[in-house]
Amino acid sequence: MAFVTFDSDKCKGCGLCVTVCPKKIVVLAADKINSKGYSPAEVSDMSLCIGCAFCAKICPDCVITVEK
Ligand code: SF4
Ligand code: SF4
Repeated sequence: MAFVTFDSDKCKGCGLCVTVCPKKIVVLAADKINSKGYSPAEVSDMSLCIGCAFCAKICPDCVITVEK
């Protein structure tokens, strides 16, 4: 199983990572606000992640790390 981590306080909530995930498991956290005042991205169900790293590649702020 792949594992995705987010440097959440760097996230600006742009949603690009949400749009590219082929498994539709990247979401903007509705119940969290980071230190910049944005709802940060997170993975809703890590067991579904295929480790493609599309989310990490598209993030303009290098928030996301994918490990396999
Ligand atoms: S690595 Fe791929 S499947 Fe996993 S969360 Fe990122 S875009 Fe989605
Ligand atoms: S692409 Fe990066 S900055 Fe934009 S919502 Fe995703 S993690 Fe946050």
